[in-house]
Amino acid sequence: MRKWLMLAPLLLPFFYLLWPKRLIGFELILFLIFAAGYRQSYVDAKRREMYIIVQIIAISIMAAVANPWLVGLGLHPAISMSWLSSYRRISGMAGFMLASFCGTLFLFDGGLLSVAWRHEWLPLILALAAVPYILKLYQMSCEVKSKLRDANDEIARLIKNEERQRIARDLHDTLGHQLSLITLKSELVERLIAGHPNQALEEARDVQQISRSTLLQVRELISDMQSIDIGEEFRQAEEIFQSAGIAFEGVNRSSLAAVPIIQNILGMCLRECVTNVIKHSGADRCKATLCEEPGQYMLHVQDNGTGMARDSSRLEQFGNGLLGMKERLLLIEGKLELVSDQAWGTRVSITVPKIAKPNIAEVVG
Ligand code: ATP
Ligand code: MG
Repeated sequence: MRKWLMLAPLLLPFFYLLWPKRLIGFELILFLIFAAGYRQSYVDAKRREMYIIVQIIAISIMAAVANPWLVGLGLHPAISMSWLSSYRRISGMAGFMLASFCGTLFLFDGGLLSVAWRHEWLPLILALAAVPYILKLYQMSCEVKSKLRDANDEIARLIKNEERQRIARDLHDTLGHQLSLITLKSELVERLIAGHPNQALEEARDVQQISRSTLLQVRELISDMQSIDIGEEFRQAEEIFQSAGIAFEGVNRSSLAAVPIIQNILGMCLRECVTNVIKHSGADRCKATLCEEPGQYMLHVQDNGTGMARDSSRLEQFGNGLLGMKERLLLIEGKLELVSDQAWGTRVSITVPKIAKPNIAEVVG
């Protein structure tokens, strides 16, 4: 169906250019040959160049015998040319079209051509020859953008996957071994309890000991996962942006090392902002600044992307990332502010009051 639908744009030139002149016979056959060439150039990629030549020749003869302005139909072979795979092949076809149209108008001037040669036709012919290059450039920029989007999604997926694998590995190494030991020991207790109660008691004590040490290890593991070093987050952001081809400037002017809870939360916020810039912004530059002012810490993440599609002041419309950030910040009385504009991108500003250590402990419980 699509293969036939692409002929629809030809209806207009057919009715407006050919019909009023009651063109039948030779001109009609030429128009049909041109239309068939246009359609075939769309469906038959292998012989595309041949069908482009057919279109150009049919238009050239039509322009000579009917109306020189019919070279305007050259827009269609020009569109077909943009589907060719290389600029070299496009240049060949565009050159042929240029030569053929100019040649026709010169050659038939005063002969077959009803109107005398006019220089106004030249800009039209030159503009037609430029069309396939412009369309090809546009197609290539769309392809690059879509590849970049895919690559960014892939990077975000890899980061998540890597983190998941690390947690799985840590859990397996810590819990897997200890739990198998507990199972073996408790089976032994079951077997010993009737004949050797003292030995069974010994083994049961072992089970208690192992389960206590496992609990300790799990706690250590969780606190390891939760502890975030803000400097490390800046370094990771730099690496991720580098792989995504986005220029990154990270400025860390704070002494947050002394306040783990604020460091953890701001680190997670920075991580989410970085992922969002890569996933959604389409930016090629991003700047993150962490600084200290009297009584507060401030984190700004600014990109030069396309800005947010939705109203940036209505957080409830957004996904888990921004809502999670807001909820985490509430724990430390922090504030999240989003400003976004299609002209200059998105700016996330986070403000966290400096709270004394004991108060933080209270908040966390
Ligand atoms: P999740 O974070 O849960 O994986 P998400 O990234 O879509 O999903 P949020 O982080 O809450 O969710 O972001 C919500 C929406 O805000 C995004 O879907 C995106 O449309 C928009 N957004 C966020 N950050 C930016 C940005 N830097 N540039 C453009 N749009 C953004
Ligand atoms: Mg997100």
